[in-house]
Amino acid sequence: MKALTWHGSGDIRCEEVDDPTIQHDRDVIIRVTSCAICGSDLHLYGGFVPGMHAGDVMGHETMGEVVEVGRGISKLKVGDRVVVPFTISCGECRQCKWGQFSLCERSNPNGAMQAKQIGYPTAGLFGYSEMYGRFPGGQAQYLRVPYADVGPIVVPDGLTDEQVLFLSDIFPTGYMAAENCDIKQGQTIAVFGCGPVGLFAIKSAFLLGAERVIAIDTIPERLALARQSGAETLDYSDESLQERILDMTNGLGPDAVIEAVGMESHGAGGIMETLQTKLTSTERPYALSQAILACRPGGTVSLPGVFVGPAVPAPLGALVGKGLTLKTGQTHVQRYLEPLMQLIVDGKIDPSFLITHRIGLEEGPEAYKTFRDKTDGCVKVVIKP
Ligand code: NAD
Ligand code: ZN
Ligand code: ZN
Repeated sequence: MKALTWHGSGDIRCEEVDDPTIQHDRDVIIRVTSCAICGSDLHLYGGFVPGMHAGDVMGHETMGEVVEVGRGISKLKVGDRVVVPFTISCGECRQCKWGQFSLCERSNPNGAMQAKQIGYPTAGLFGYSEMYGRFPGGQAQYLRVPYADVGPIVVPDGLTDEQVLFLSDIFPTGYMAAENCDIKQGQTIAVFGCGPVGLFAIKSAFLLGAERVIAIDTIPERLALARQSGAETLDYSDESLQERILDMTNGLGPDAVIEAVGMESHGAGGIMETLQTKLTSTERPYALSQAILACRPGGTVSLPGVFVGPAVPAPLGALVGKGLTLKTGQTHVQRYLEPLMQLIVDGKIDPSFLITHRIGLEEGPEAYKTFRDKTDGCVKVVIKP
């Protein structure tokens, strides 16, 4: 089959790889009908995540048609249309039972390796390095889905791929980021980053009762989409950004702030460059620092943005001094599939609003570059293999 494969920093190729096969009773194989490129793929594309190997198949936002089922699967049958969460979870361990699916204790065969990095094994992820189990990803014609009786959700008739594909990651991720803000009616939420995750965080904050959302980025197309969703917008490169946010919030600051940017705003996230370089760099504003500085005393900073490796400079004095709550984590996607699918069925949200590019697998390598550089008005790329 054809797939998009990783060959080093900035080097994604479309090439022939082996078809996936059933390896376990709880596996299914799907024929991929749609998949997407994510901001998280850009960390791999940038070479910032250790444990990638030449030829690894990329992709973790995937849906398609079931073509083969393992002997232990009764929940799915050949022909079902499913969306596949990016988190692979066993459904039976302590963390899964608590609904913390991205912290599954059993789905990552390299959990011990991950535990060395962060002290705990975390769930396996599709297309996301040896640390996360080295599962081949879904930017391909076929995908093997482990623990398929836990993850995939069947798509109700009448919904298009584009309406449901983002249940695999960015819609639940934006939603969990907003839910972590514990929004009370009438509150104001600020969202740093109007990429796909930030845009879903904005929509979700309103769905969860926010009165106002202040959205921050610098890219015109993304700021325009944020405004279309009802947000007021600011440019992060504006030197008086913090004063502007204070002016808009009666001198207090937003009740909660979502950081939907991640390590690239800090350069390489501390892996490839030394902490010292980053501490003394004044080149660009750091989204996490700005988020902590902007939040009102006693408020919450919600961090869906991804960081890998050692610390990045952050104003911990402000975090502690203002008594802020910091909430983080990979999304527990399985927890959100049914309620968010219902919002789509009820017409409360149409997640396809942010798609700007529709391509075939062969155009994947070029599309990675366009999505990374945020050129050609690119907000979200959907691939139809
Ligand atoms: P993206 O790169 O398309 O968007 C990031 C946006 O942030 C861009 O529009 C960029 O212009 C903007 N930005 C950069 N610096 C900024 C700053 N200082 N202030 C405000 N905006 C700034 O990526 P995305 O797909 O939206 O993903 C965003 C982050 O969410 C990534 O770190 C990604 O890895 C992470 N993510 C996390 C999860 C999870 O489970 N927690 C899931 C998916 C994605
Ligand atoms: Zn993703
Ligand atoms: Zn588990």
